[in-house]
Amino acid sequence: PETKLPKVGTTIFTEMSQLANATGAINLSQGFPDFDAPAALRERVTHHINSGANQYAPMTGVPALREAIALKCERLYGHRPCMDTEVTVTSGATEALFAAISAVVRRDDEVILFDPCYDSYEPAIELNGGKAVHLPLDEQDFSIDWNRLADAINPRTRMIVINTPHNPTGSVFGSEDLERLAALVRDTDILLIGDEVYEHIVFDGAAHQSLLCHRELAQRSFVVSSFGKTYHATGWKLGYCIAPAPLSAEFRKVHQYLTFSTMTPAQLGLADFMLDAPEHYLELPAFYQAKRDLFSELMAPSRFGLSLALGTYFQLADYSAISDLPDTEFAKWLTREAGVASIPVSVFCQQPMQRRLVRFCFAKGEDTLREAATRLCKI
Ligand code: PMP
Ligand code: GLN
Repeated sequence: PETKLPKVGTTIFTEMSQLANATGAINLSQGFPDFDAPAALRERVTHHINSGANQYAPMTGVPALREAIALKCERLYGHRPCMDTEVTVTSGATEALFAAISAVVRRDDEVILFDPCYDSYEPAIELNGGKAVHLPLDEQDFSIDWNRLADAINPRTRMIVINTPHNPTGSVFGSEDLERLAALVRDTDILLIGDEVYEHIVFDGAAHQSLLCHRELAQRSFVVSSFGKTYHATGWKLGYCIAPAPLSAEFRKVHQYLTFSTMTPAQLGLADFMLDAPEHYLELPAFYQAKRDLFSELMAPSRFGLSLALGTYFQLADYSAISDLPDTEFAKWLTREAGVASIPVSVFCQQPMQRRLVRFCFAKGEDTLREAATRLCKI
């Protein structure tokens, strides 16, 4: 019998993390920190667990957390969403992405994605009978080819997914990108997803260009973020979606039956911590930039070619001076030979890539980064 997702297998993140564990390699593949969430945040969540806040949260999320999210958006992006009608707390960004796509994509609708592309959008599009249209990013700076995007837009285009800061390449949108996007969608009904889970990890003094910063774009966008990335707690699977009220209403119809609500004490603890310690997310760029810079300095003597990531906690490395192997084979070989696991980049692309690239996660303590770089410099 025909299966619904014939192209889907085990994700590269699971595969490479398993290989790292099996071989005892340093795991710079799947993106997660090897340090803990802030102690004060853990204390707040524990407090709420021990205070009996252990039953269902409201379907849309606990009010204190929705309010904290709305205040943060006003502070950073000059757009204050209505906490009652426009902010929904979800079980990670993954659920938010799935719910947003399911809420609006109909049979035969096209959704434009940019390659290399994070892996969770396409299965949701396919399950809803839509069609993913993949456009390659420029392989040098991973920017959008706006002419190509203009050519790809047609009456079937329902949605465009924008991921900035971008996983796996570390590229970020500039304000001119928001303007170009606005010009292209202005006279259409096209909706947008802003996958902005790395919104607080942008380097070199640049500001994150959220779709929320652009009044027109915000009117047609589902903006998705993840507390896992911002608070070093990927295992909590907490995120949110901001969208105008009519879109949020459709989003909530799906969320209501996908998960209904998400873990109450973690939501309450995050709300307390966001109010008590807003400096946490304000200090995140410097925190991760120091790691990016340390890793690139340590890698300078290696034969890998690095162009510094502009955002996210991922660094691409060009290995063409080392090997002719395709990237998935190279990443597996490197895990065994060097004892460092990475993620191959071409698995996120529909068309073959010209460049040979792997992705290293630098959300790691200094000792881990030093040891990994020492091993990689010997290759
Ligand atoms: N989008 C992107 C681009 C990501 O990198 C991730 C996490 N790896 C997600 C979505 C999913 O986030 P969460 O863990 O909160 O579901
Ligand atoms: N988003 C994480 C990454 O890019 C992986 C999440 C997952 O394992 N599904 O590494």
